[in-house]
Amino acid sequence: CGIFAYVNFNVNKERRYILEVLFNGLRRLEYRGYDSAGISIDSTSDSDSNGCPPPLVFRQEGNIESLVQSVYQEVAATNLNLEESFSTHAGIAHTRWATHGEPAPRNSHPQTSDPGNEFLVAHNGVITNYTVLKETLVRHGFTFESETDTEVIPKLAKFIFDNMNEEGEKIMQFSQVVLEVMRHLEGAYALIFKSRHFPNELIACKRGSPLLLGVKELNEEANIGTSFNDAKFLSSNRQPKELFLSSDASALVEHSKKVLVIEDGEIVHLKDGGASIFKFDDAKGKRHGALTRPPS
Ligand code: GLU
Repeated sequence: CGIFAYVNFNVNKERRYILEVLFNGLRRLEYRGYDSAGISIDSTSDSDSNGCPPPLVFRQEGNIESLVQSVYQEVAATNLNLEESFSTHAGIAHTRWATHGEPAPRNSHPQTSDPGNEFLVAHNGVITNYTVLKETLVRHGFTFESETDTEVIPKLAKFIFDNMNEEGEKIMQFSQVVLEVMRHLEGAYALIFKSRHFPNELIACKRGSPLLLGVKELNEEANIGTSFNDAKFLSSNRQPKELFLSSDASALVEHSKKVLVIEDGEIVHLKDGGASIFKFDDAKGKRHGALTRPPS
């Protein structure tokens, strides 16, 4: 019942710090109610080497502290280095209020496209047409692990990504994949996508469920006069910064004063230190183009 994401761009952060920001985000969202929780982080800072290693996923039923405990247990068991430093890293987190499928690790989010975690999705809301999407995906050879409505989303993303690439097209942009996925979804959702194919990027979109973007410029002096509504804020630049996505402001206030409420049908692409926001157009099924928020 809450989603949260943290991207550090061009600023070194250790895995331990990244985990704690994600856990704290979830703790702030706890009051919204939940029965399970999960996160995904990168397995190595070397994520743009040939053949990206799959992102790591941790999921647990129960409260946030049982997730925290299980993550640190697994970190210890697998000798995952908590001091490993990432100059850029994109992590996602979720607290679940089960609507489809009992509270259990397999039904917790992030839900995944495949064992290699090519596409991962954290979802708040309900996908009303998931049965028909599931049937189609099963016919195309996908096997489902969970009883959630959500699992169709990452699998649909993989299906679209694989198909488009098979047709000999240039590799699809992450935002194109998500746009295509959105065209097929009915119901209410706020979604955060993470992909093995697009390291250091996240995409979020929403319809009906709340979603906010927060930005913390770490070199504030260099950005004096940069108001929230400036194009500079939304466009990519090389300034070190931390970007956050959250279901509500309670998880953002400690990090950022610059918060943007994402509107229904908008797609937020966090990449190269910037946030691009596109509007999904229902009638035409494609974006209007880059959207810069008008000054308020
Ligand atoms: N419908 C999804 C599920 O049951 C998401 C629930 C939520 O909003 O937490 O897994």
